[in-house]
Parts: sequence; C-alpha cells; structure tokens
Amino acid sequence: MFPLLKYGESEVMDYYRSVTPGMVSSSLAKDRHDWFDLLNLLSGAAYPFMDQMRAKAQLARRKYYGKTVSVYAPLYIGNTCVNSCKYCDFRRQHTGTVRRNLTMDEIRSEADAIRAHGIDSLLIVAGEDPKINSVAHLAEVGTMLKKMFSNLSLEVAPQTEEGYRELFSAGYEALTCFQETYDPVLYKEMHPAGPKSNYDFRLWTQLRAGKAGFRTLGCAFLLGLGPWRPEAASLGAHAFYLMKECYEAKVQFAFPRFCRVDGGFVPPCEVDERDVDLMMLAFRIVFPQCCMTVSTREAPAFRDYIVQVAADNMSAGSRVTPGGYAVLEKEHAADVAQFTLSDRRTPQEIYSVIKSNGQEVVFKNWDNRI
Ligand code: SF4
Repeated sequence: MFPLLKYGESEVMDYYRSVTPGMVSSSLAKDRHDWFDLLNLLSGAAYPFMDQMRAKAQLARRKYYGKTVSVYAPLYIGNTCVNSCKYCDFRRQHTGTVRRNLTMDEIRSEADAIRAHGIDSLLIVAGEDPKINSVAHLAEVGTMLKKMFSNLSLEVAPQTEEGYRELFSAGYEALTCFQETYDPVLYKEMHPAGPKSNYDFRLWTQLRAGKAGFRTLGCAFLLGLGPWRPEAASLGAHAFYLMKECYEAKVQFAFPRFCRVDGGFVPPCEVDERDVDLMMLAFRIVFPQCCMTVSTREAPAFRDYIVQVAADNMSAGSRVTPGGYAVLEKEHAADVAQFTLSDRRTPQEIYSVIKSNGQEVVFKNWDNRI
C-alpha cells in the first residue's frame, strides 16, 4: 500500500467488502469527494451504479476539459536497460530484443515524422541506461525538441530533484512514472535487480519532479501485477498526497493494463475492461480536475468511448520501439515493441473519430509565455 496510508491491505479489502449500495449512492451524491468515496466507487457494490457514474464522470470531465481531447505521441529514443523487470522485453537479461539508442539525427527524423501528423505534444521514452540516457543527454534532446513541440513530457528513469531541475530548464514540463505496484514485496519480486529495485526512490519520483517545477505528474500502477482494488486505493492516496505537496502541478492518471499475448508475460491478476472502465469513472468523479490518459493498449472502441466520459488525453499513431516512425522504415528493419498495441490507427483516423463525436483535438494546455 502507499506507505503514508494508515490502513494495511487487509483493512482496505475489509472496507471494500463492507461497502453497501447506500454508501455508493451517497458518495455519488456529493460534490467533493474524499478517499473513502473513491473506495466506495471502486467497490463491487458500485457495478450496478455504472450508468450513474458515467453520467457524473462525463459532467466532471466537461466542466474541467470541455469538449477537448489532448493528443500526444510517444517517441522511444532508446531501449537499452539496466533493469530486470520480469514483465518487460527491454529487461537486461532478455536476449531476443534488438537494442538501439537513436542518434540525435535519428531522434530528429522521428520527431519530423510525428510532427508531419500535426502532433505538437511529445512524450520522450527511454529504457533506464544512465550511461547513455543521462540527464545531460535527455536535456540535449529536450533542448532540440522544444523548438519543434509545444509540450514535452518524459517517461524515463527516475531522477534526483536536481536532475529534474535541469530537465525542466531544458523544456520538459510533464513526467510519467508508473509505480508498477504499491506492494513492496511484489515490487521486489517483479524488479529483482538494477536501480529500479529501489521501491522508495521510485515512489517519491513525482514529489521530486513537482518540487523541481514539473507541471504534470503522471502516476499509475500496472494493471495485472497485483489485485487491482488495493492498488487503486494506493494510487488515490498517492494522488491526494501529491495534490497537497505539489499544489502548483496537476496529477495525471493512467491505467496501463497487461493484455495477454501468446508467448508473453502472463499477468498474475488480469484485469478486465469493465474494471478499467469502473476505475476511470471513479477517478474522474473523485479527482475531476486531474488529467487522465487512456492507454494505447486498450481497444479502439474503448478508447473512443472513454475519452468522451472520463479520460482527457490519448496517444495517436504510437510506435513503441526506437525508430518506429521513420528510421526503421528507411532501414526496412523489424519493429520490436515494448508492449503490444491494441490501437494501431493513424493519427488522422483518431482525429476524425474525435471530431465525429463532437470533440476537438488539442495538443497543449499550457503556454510558457503566460
Ligand atoms: S519496464 Fe522500463 S525499466 Fe523495466 S525493463 Fe522495461 S524499459 Fe527497463
């Protein structure tokens, strides 16, 4: 569990089991919500209320985000990694992955290919390799790309507060760091070696980034590693904590889910689509102002639906391998992705669905000149 919570996992599970339809109803009727409301809306007793939750979530989403959907693209700049995450094919021990770190020119080519689709918001992703993807290198990449994109986000190894200051100065404004699991025992089992095995350093990543000036702090757990209800309770507690400690920043939620693929990692606690839906509705109701992104691992139909009622942010035309947009095509090389994508539509196809649903595509919600 999130360590500052005064409840253990068994107490949280006892609470979930004690939730009645009346408790769900009264949480739904409130205007401001606390952590117990979140638990009520995530409990098994909430399933019959999902239509009401959807209506309430949609109102909250409209109030804070109007009819806009923020669209971004991930740019994988390297997949060498010193970590040993058991579920990831970029882990150090995995010999089946073609390793590559893009040169500055290649990063530029990838960025040009993304920019050609009109995308103005970029997420830089890299495996954890401190010798290659150092703060200085990431800052150099950020300085180059900030001239091309209005919004730069990072999903790389956790850094120190000082490192984040340097990266913020280079132009990055948003950060995503999945905790993977809030259970320290399971965390150790899934991340046996490498710097990522340090649970605490990862846990306080958003706090360090927020103190360094980052404006969006992305939090998530990996759906499928542990039982999702205690994880979601921890994610909620983590968000309440960050909203207090980093009140100038926005918390952003993601709900990345393992979808089983042949020969791939078998998630010990698979989560189905209905539960992802329930989670996203509950978090939108309890945290109406927070950003929420829908994963490319989800099916197109679910993504198209959830950006209308809960999520405000989605990727488009994603490639999850270094060089996936332009460089590999030029070389006729194979695409070795970090995970399986469910939504393979082009950005233009996604824009047109967003527009046909009466929504507007946007690429940034912040301007440095303001
Ligand atoms: S999940 Fe990230 S840190 Fe872990 S092996 Fe994959 S790339 Fe490396």
